[in-house]
Amino acid sequence: MEKILYLAHTEADGSLGKAALETLSAALELAGQLAGGEFAVGLIGADVQAAADRIAGCGAGAFLGVNGDEFSVSRYSTDAAAAAALVREAEATLVLAPATSRFARTLPGVSQRLGGRIDTQVTGLQAANGGPWVERWYYRQRMAATLTRSQRPWFLLIAAGTFAPWDGGAGSADVKAVEVEQPPTRTRVIGIEAASSDAQTIRPDADLLLVAGAGWTKKQPDGQSHLEEAEQSILGFIEATQSSLGSSKSLVDQAGEGQRVLPFMSHLHQVGQTGATPRHRKGLATCCHGEEPHVVGWRFIGERRAINLDAGCGWAQGKADVVYVADAFEVMERVNALLKQS
Ligand SMILES: Cc1cc2nc3c(=O)[nH]c(=O)nc-3n(C[C@H](O)[C@H](O)[C@H](O)COP(=O)(O)OP(=O)(O)OC[C@H]3O[C@@H](n4cnc5c(N)ncnc54)[C@H](O)[C@@H]3O)c2cc1C
Repeated sequence: MEKILYLAHTEADGSLGKAALETLSAALELAGQLAGGEFAVGLIGADVQAAADRIAGCGAGAFLGVNGDEFSVSRYSTDAAAAAALVREAEATLVLAPATSRFARTLPGVSQRLGGRIDTQVTGLQAANGGPWVERWYYRQRMAATLTRSQRPWFLLIAAGTFAPWDGGAGSADVKAVEVEQPPTRTRVIGIEAASSDAQTIRPDADLLLVAGAGWTKKQPDGQSHLEEAEQSILGFIEATQSSLGSSKSLVDQAGEGQRVLPFMSHLHQVGQTGATPRHRKGLATCCHGEEPHVVGWRFIGERRAINLDAGCGWAQGKADVVYVADAFEVMERVNALLKQS
């Protein structure tokens, strides 16, 4: 019989983040399929009571918590000590946790300490032949594998955006406090400096991804390039819709090649084989040719549309649901005007 531990850390305000609630859905789904096992919740934070109450109705057999100011911040030594203590207390054989940067950094080490194994960025779960199986992607999302392991504890980091956030009832949870001796620390967290919401244009939770390609900086039919208009169009749309901004490789490489650039674009925006593989419900590619090394990064984008002057561009070769053969400058100007009116 498996003993499943759902492991989460609280956010700065004591709540559970979206990725944590998604992982709770995943853990409950697997527990339901592996009927007969035990299911426990383990929480880490300054004070986990509010987070435990929020998910009190999830049907867990036990709620365990590591509380304390030193456990409220992301720091390897304290997070690893807290997670290891919770796994030991629950005698967990399967540990499901969200693939947040905090856990992605810590849990591989915890798995090593406890003699377990870990699989990261898990995108699917199922019970088969009496045991758990997971799905994850390899080779930059080109191959999907379904695999299982016999080693325990088996840690599974669940990729964000692959399960619906749990939305069950709140209540009053009886949390058992698990004491952890604070390990020696060299790192003192004195605060978090986040980019302003306008400067931060990569928004993984946004409904829509807008991709800008190198065409925005190229000479247009009038023989001129129009970088200022490009900047206004792209940023105007991103600001009005709070979409996430992506880029082709050619556009972000231009800075290094000494060409005129769009200053708000960095390599972090790059989507594709050597870039990111974001998950958004919809995507709109503008002035981007739709070559395979770029489009492979669109694997998890639900509905794809593209605006290109070239009716023979890559998007038109079966890679997009809709291709608008049009001038993206003109289309986006009109779209932004409509957005202003609404
Ligand atoms: C090993 C390898 C890895 C790679 N990894 C990546 C990756 O991760 N991500 C990535 O993006 N690329 C990657 N590439 C590069 C990729 O093959 C393409 O070169 C790149 O995606 C092209 O970028 P682009 O479409 O923006 O530019 P271009 O190919 O220059 O296309 C510009 C497009 O803009 C259109 N256009 C111009 N003006 C307008 C207008 N006014 N309105 C509408 N359309 C207009 C043009 O018709 C053209 O189709 C990789 C390549 C290799 C070899």
